[in-house]
Amino acid sequence: MGSRPQWVTVLGSTGSIGVSTLDVLARHPDRFSVFALTAQTRWEALASQCEAVKPRFAVVASDEHAALLRARLAECKVPTQVLSGAAALAEVAEASEVDTVMAAIVGAAGLLPSFAAVKAGKRVLLANKEVLVMAGGLFMTAARRAGAEVLPIDSEHNAIFQCLPLAGGLAAGLDLTQLGVRKILLTASGGPFRESDVSDLAAVTPQQACAHPNWDMGPKISVDSATMMNKGLEFIEACWLFNAAPRDIEVVIHPQSVIHSLVEYIDGSVLAQLGNPDMRTPIAHALGLPLRLASGVERLDLVNIARLDFQTPDDQRFPCLHLAQQAAGEGRTAPAVLNAANEEAVAAFLQQGLAFTDIARVIEATLGRVNLTEPDSLEVVQQADFEARVIARELIARHAFS
Ligand code: NAD
Ligand code: MG
Repeated sequence: MGSRPQWVTVLGSTGSIGVSTLDVLARHPDRFSVFALTAQTRWEALASQCEAVKPRFAVVASDEHAALLRARLAECKVPTQVLSGAAALAEVAEASEVDTVMAAIVGAAGLLPSFAAVKAGKRVLLANKEVLVMAGGLFMTAARRAGAEVLPIDSEHNAIFQCLPLAGGLAAGLDLTQLGVRKILLTASGGPFRESDVSDLAAVTPQQACAHPNWDMGPKISVDSATMMNKGLEFIEACWLFNAAPRDIEVVIHPQSVIHSLVEYIDGSVLAQLGNPDMRTPIAHALGLPLRLASGVERLDLVNIARLDFQTPDDQRFPCLHLAQQAAGEGRTAPAVLNAANEEAVAAFLQQGLAFTDIARVIEATLGRVNLTEPDSLEVVQQADFEARVIARELIARHAFS
């Protein structure tokens, strides 16, 4: 790294990953300056972040929130310029001054700004896994063409990345066979309902689903972890990031979330990355690469942890994982449809309009009603996303999915 500080844009800075990113950045003021911060509606939280880090730009979704944020920043004499709307998100991701973009918007809403960042050849720290699920082929191709570096922030993928040979290996475009990899072992905590009675799951409340035993995350990914759709999305994400086929990846339940994933080689070696479950580790890893940066994460106390357990996931308890693995095998727009139906079903569950166990039913029924196409442009992907949402919403409204 040169002597000049790197300019960083944090998309989704008010979320769980966004806040952890600002925490790591604040530990290294000599290395990083914040170019832009963005939020959807939480303009007051964004105002406090702007006061602390004084970014050049702040972006919110609506003009109304932009006006409120502008007034607040003027009162506090913070010189940040306030913008609004989807086009502004892309602008702060692709601006020529920016070196690194943290893509931490949740869901399909992050698609366009994440693409803007890779097309502009940035170092892209990708937390927003839904982008790879929807349009992984297009995203990785766009990154290669523009010379963008895509670094995984999802803790499992960051672990796998750390266990693969980077120099002369992954970075040189070799595939898993050429690297001597036999399997990628993707670990999963199993979420809060790993041991509940399957017959109790229909009555689960949003509050219970969001209470993850190991990780403190936003509401959508917390529900995804409880259904294990999160692992399904991560399965698809891993296929794109590491140029892997579905048969190359095995999901293993590991309730302690200490081993973040493993890579098994043909010589019998199995490499794992371990650490406390705190997203500041993968964030600091990707921000600093090739250097290691302090992250504020507590040291791993192995003696205190004492034991590490492993299990095979149960398809009956976690039908969403199986649906995602099937969609990965089917390819085309199946993962985009799965993702869209899941987003709609999770939103309905969070608003208490859908039972927890109906999330998988809505996704399966939606997949059964669409025609899959080749995702050869972003427009095709967005159309598949749109159509799947219309179908899923209608199924939810009519309660017509079982
Ligand atoms: P969150 O809900 O806490 O935060 C989401 C952020 O995105 C917020 O800043 C919000 O303002 C912004 N946002 C939401 N909808 C938007 C829209 N329509 N337009 C513009 N901005 C919008 O979510 P999170 O837990 O931080 O997760 C972010 C992403 O990172 C997700 O894709 C998630 O799967 C992934 N991820 C999160 C964790 C974690 O520990 N939280 C771990 C791995 C991966
Ligand atoms: Mg993860």
